[in-house]
Amino acid sequence: MSPSPSKAAELLALADDFYMPVYAQRRMVIERGIGARLWDTDGNEYVDFAAGIAVCGLGHSDPDLVEALVTQANKIWHHSNVFHSEPPLLLAQELVGASKFATHVFFSNSGAEANEAAIKLARKWASKHGRDADKRVIVTFKGSFHGRTMGALAATAQPKYQAGYEPLPAGFRYCEFNDLEALREAMAAGDVCAVLLEPVQGEGGVLPAAPGFLRGVRELCDVHDALLMLDEIQSGMGRSGTLFAHWQDEVTPDIVTLAKALGGGFPIGAMLSGPKLADVMYVGAHGTTFGGNPLGAAVARAALRKLQSPEVVANVHKQAQAFRDALAAIDAELDLFCEVRGRGLMLGAVLKPGYAGKAAAILDVAAAHGVLLLNAGPDVLRFVPALNIADADVAEGFVRLRKALARFKAG
Ligand SMILES: *Cc1c(COP(=O)(O)O)cnc(C)c1O
Repeated sequence: MSPSPSKAAELLALADDFYMPVYAQRRMVIERGIGARLWDTDGNEYVDFAAGIAVCGLGHSDPDLVEALVTQANKIWHHSNVFHSEPPLLLAQELVGASKFATHVFFSNSGAEANEAAIKLARKWASKHGRDADKRVIVTFKGSFHGRTMGALAATAQPKYQAGYEPLPAGFRYCEFNDLEALREAMAAGDVCAVLLEPVQGEGGVLPAAPGFLRGVRELCDVHDALLMLDEIQSGMGRSGTLFAHWQDEVTPDIVTLAKALGGGFPIGAMLSGPKLADVMYVGAHGTTFGGNPLGAAVARAALRKLQSPEVVANVHKQAQAFRDALAAIDAELDLFCEVRGRGLMLGAVLKPGYAGKAAAILDVAAAHGVLLLNAGPDVLRFVPALNIADADVAEGFVRLRKALARFKAG
């Protein structure tokens, strides 16, 4: 008798048969998680430095998030935006208060939809101010990632995401990131209504805005009467060490988009807008069926409260240093990285040219050693763990990662 296939093998056959093959999903089936640990259906345990791509800011099964979800699930799940319930109303008030700049909120279900809302709001604002359609250009930056819907995709200045989807929506212009001179030129014609950027480029390689860059962008936006729109979908909700990454750049944006960690793993996104935009939208101008549903809003309220707490903020600073120290120690031994960059617990270890293109292969070896991480492009290892990750999980994760990288290096 041949041994029976593992439960995972049976389930993975379903992926092969029935999933549209758009993901390079790891050949494991996750069963449950607690904090920064995960277990698969074959009983293997992992330290999780990926947190669902920077989504599970409070790790897995956080008791306060579970409590918020279950309590709300027993009241009302969905009522549509034809009606009100308490959680999204209070979440709107709390996000506006926390943001220090916004006057209004629009809730979406995802990051791409939050950015779509931002793009539409910028265009509506420009049209309201009498600018012709050809004077409503939105500038974005090479290496950016803003999502997969057509508008967000047009904003995403990376050919690999856009190829084959043409024609893309018009009215976007791409600039070199961290290059103010290039932006000055891109805005010189006076046809730009908004500039959209990530304070720390995530998918593009964990690349932070250079000191002073956002302030320079803000100044150019002011000169040309354009909106500053910040995509904080990955960098926001405390990941950078402050609730919003742009606080560290000392700029006031006109629009900020959030998603990922906003719901701690429950899908919800938000667009926050400032006083310039207060009178632009009107009934019927935009909308969504699920956005701002009470389940997502109830969980996000609990997540926002905890992610702002002094304990979590202090932990981000402490563990960011622990990650940097551990990566430096590994590098001193194995000589793999040319740079570790990022902010807070959004870190990228850039592989030396000799290991270029090997990030995905390293993730495989790491997973086989019981630690899950991400890449950001082919050359960068990305670390975006839970913001409340404990000392023991960091230590154990790096014991495993060191072994994995030594194995990788040995070939
Ligand atoms: C993940 C991400 C998005 C897209 O969010 P989805 O929820 O996948 O649509 C947009 N911008 C940034 C910076 C992101 O990291």
